[in-house]
Amino acid sequence: MNFPLYWRDQQAMRWPATVVASAPDGVTLDESAFYPGGGGQPADVGVLEWGGVFTRVEGVSAAGALVPVEGDPAPPVGTAVVARLDDVRRRSLMRTHSALHVVCGVVFRDFAALVTGSNMEPLTGRMDFNLPEVPDGFKTDLERIVNEEIARDRAITARVVSRDVALADSDVMRTAKHLIPEQVEQVRIIDVEGLDAQADSGTHVASTRQIGEVSITKVESKGKGFRRVRVVLPTA
Ligand SMILES: [Zn+2]
Repeated sequence: MNFPLYWRDQQAMRWPATVVASAPDGVTLDESAFYPGGGGQPADVGVLEWGGVFTRVEGVSAAGALVPVEGDPAPPVGTAVVARLDDVRRRSLMRTHSALHVVCGVVFRDFAALVTGSNMEPLTGRMDFNLPEVPDGFKTDLERIVNEEIARDRAITARVVSRDVALADSDVMRTAKHLIPEQVEQVRIIDVEGLDAQADSGTHVASTRQIGEVSITKVESKGKGFRRVRVVLPTA
């Protein structure tokens, strides 16, 4: 099975490729590191360079094609391009995504709460938890413990396993009960060593120290047992 470039190399930000399908509203490359979006992480943006022309990419369609900014020309089929991600934005998203997994691991381990949803933009994210009682000092304690775990520089690794292996892994399944569609045969798992394991298609930094020191800016109550934690990261 040929996995996408953003799985094989999470650091790929610039690569040569050939256009295999082309329309004004969608370009498909033979090789793409543009993350298509999913799991709370937005799609990448970037640019395709070909023969002195720059085609800006504003996102990825539901069908997986790169969407040019309106008015930018789509390179024809067969064109050799150099594709580039907006690497500052992507790197920020990788750090943000990894930060949310650390928060998830800490909230489960130390506060026995399960994540119910998450979303992010570069350098800011939210996680929703089922936590009936919010303990005194929760926000301060959570921020302190999360930053202690980040400072431990835990490795963050990706592996792909069969659906059966994923379903048998209780750590993975506590966050994924309803999240692995039946047709999915291979499941990618992101491990924050010793802290968290989740089925996840997103892109991550290689170790927790690369996240930087985070702030827990808000803990909101959105309903019975429904808590929303907001996380903000430093720019670098
Ligand atoms: Zn994730």
